[in-house]
Amino acid sequence: MHAVDCKALAEKITDEIHNETKSMDRKPVLAMFLVGKDPSSEIYIHKKEEQCIRAGIESRKIILSENITHRNLLAEIDKLNGNADIDAILIQLPLPKQIIEREALERIDPGKDVDCLHPLNFGLFCEYGSEEARVIPVTALAVMKILKECDAAIKGQDVVVVGSSNIAGKPIALMLVEKGATVTICHDKTKDLKRYTRKADILVVAAGKKHLVTKNMVKYGAIVIDVGINRENGIMRGDVDFDNVSEVASYVTPVPGGVGPITVATLLENVLRLSYRKQSNGIVPKPDIEII
Ligand code: NAD
Repeated sequence: MHAVDCKALAEKITDEIHNETKSMDRKPVLAMFLVGKDPSSEIYIHKKEEQCIRAGIESRKIILSENITHRNLLAEIDKLNGNADIDAILIQLPLPKQIIEREALERIDPGKDVDCLHPLNFGLFCEYGSEEARVIPVTALAVMKILKECDAAIKGQDVVVVGSSNIAGKPIALMLVEKGATVTICHDKTKDLKRYTRKADILVVAAGKKHLVTKNMVKYGAIVIDVGINRENGIMRGDVDFDNVSEVASYVTPVPGGVGPITVATLLENVLRLSYRKQSNGIVPKPDIEII
């Protein structure tokens, strides 16, 4: 087991994508909806735009008013669904409260759903696994890439995932099961969280609660992957008390500079997958990139 430079890993993945895109007939195109003026969303979109340039992907940002009606947002999504130039569509979350998030995400053409949030794509991933899925949930893939890079044993290991959302906890748990781990999913109704986390060889935390995990909750030598992002007065903190937990864990991912940058790179991998698929008229070719 060794520590991973997550920023360098993200750059390596992005460069591998660039190697693929430069030999394609045309550049893949990612369209991103930014609805309203959420400062964090603006930062996330900007980071994706920057990395698209590095990966040889064209990005198009569609800025919509915070007051857009649900119906008008669906109409905007329909326009991009019907635009043959666009390979992949992303809706930056969260959305303003007048928008029914689930309906907006389900409106995206599944063939352009880069975040794997459409039920068809999530279903394909659950049923057939990451090798056969059209796209892979990006946070889960980022976690798996970190575990691979640090040579973590997964098969037969006891893994605890804290958080059970469709975006993070559930797909992370599924990918770990796929690789042979025995996985426990904890959430906000779990009684005595520590009872579970202390047994984990690998602990993945995606709860969105600053410093939820402290030193006394972690097994000696465990690998701890912190997915959480909590902003307080402009400072970003994880769900894990990094300094404290580093005293017992064999490796803890930092926040910022851990899972986050890799999630951008894995998102761009999905753009590549969707574009390959589209450019080959639905015959499913595989981009020459290793999943994990
Ligand atoms: P969510 O609110 O949808 O889900 C949170 C999950 O954590 C739920 O299952 C909830 O039951 C559980 N939880 C909350 N408080 C808990 C507690 N005290 N004890 C145990 N479980 C608890 O959030 P999400 O979208 O899954 O995101 C979770 C965190 O991960 C957020 O901080 C988010 O910003 C971050 N995130 C980061 C990335 C990345 O790229 N690094 C990607 C996705 C999400």
